[in-house]
Amino acid sequence: MTRPGEPAESAEGERPAMRSAESADREAPAVRSAESAERGTSVMRPAEPVAWPYGKSAAASFTFDVDAESAVLFGHPGAASRLSVMSHQAYGPLTGLPRLLRILAGKEVRATFFVPGYTAHRHPDAVRAIVDGGHEIAHHGYLHESLIDTGEAAEAEILDRGLAALDEVAGVRPVGYRAPMWELTYNSPRLLAERGFLYDSSLMDADVPYELDAGHATSIVEIPVHWGLDDWEQYCYLPDIAGAGLIEHPDKAVSMWRGEFEALRREGGCFVLTNHPFLSGRPARAAALEGLIEHVAGCADVWLAPLGDIARHVRGLALKPRAIPKPELRGSPP
Ligand SMILES: [Zn+2]
Repeated sequence: MTRPGEPAESAEGERPAMRSAESADREAPAVRSAESAERGTSVMRPAEPVAWPYGKSAAASFTFDVDAESAVLFGHPGAASRLSVMSHQAYGPLTGLPRLLRILAGKEVRATFFVPGYTAHRHPDAVRAIVDGGHEIAHHGYLHESLIDTGEAAEAEILDRGLAALDEVAGVRPVGYRAPMWELTYNSPRLLAERGFLYDSSLMDADVPYELDAGHATSIVEIPVHWGLDDWEQYCYLPDIAGAGLIEHPDKAVSMWRGEFEALRREGGCFVLTNHPFLSGRPARAAALEGLIEHVAGCADVWLAPLGDIARHVRGLALKPRAIPKPELRGSPP
């Protein structure tokens, strides 16, 4: 459950003019952006503005990652024998999720729930309750597997195993995907496109959705996210497993998210909030989130929709797909 560590080295063209001594020491494996640009292989361009439907000027979506036990069990298999840790994670589907579903129903808001296959198998009634509530179910791995250094074949197998579980338990074939820990690989877009997925929601290089090149003249819609719009950093603490013991006040967390919402709203962006039922399903946190949902739902200029609806709209815009080339490092073979 550890979060990713230090960010990768910046591209040379993106480095600020004033660099710290520490960053200067670490500059060896820099990206050959200029050389690559000359060869036409690494030219990146920003996402285009998106025209929103129904006369709206911005979009928003509330999303929930129903990790339950899976996220702990993948990184810490030994935790399966720790009853208290398992109960902390089971709080999500057993107690937090029903509360969040009641809140969403009360506000008549439909959301997107990313469900690992393992969660579907262990908590089938909870997953069926999401479907019964009219919400979107999307793919989130099988056992919340980290895809760092995962080969293409293993990643494909995880995708298929997750699809089979969601079909078996809820009769759902999802159109959306979110990589566990938002750790997409360079193989993922193609593997998703080959399986008919419409969209992914794991990347962080834009404020609006776009078409992501998936190779072989295909693309998937990418709906960007960010760590600042995730409840994990605010609330998660499990001794020896995650967090440092600091648990934020819900007012602080929601204030941060609302600030980002208002700024994205002014700029025509797409606000995507990620909450986990085992974290934000607790009473005071759910109450604070309810206030934010009520506010966003009440903004007449904002299109509030599940990610699947947003992806279908973006697909209809026929945007030119963007490629995100893998950086080449100094000293690596051409
Ligand atoms: Zn997750």
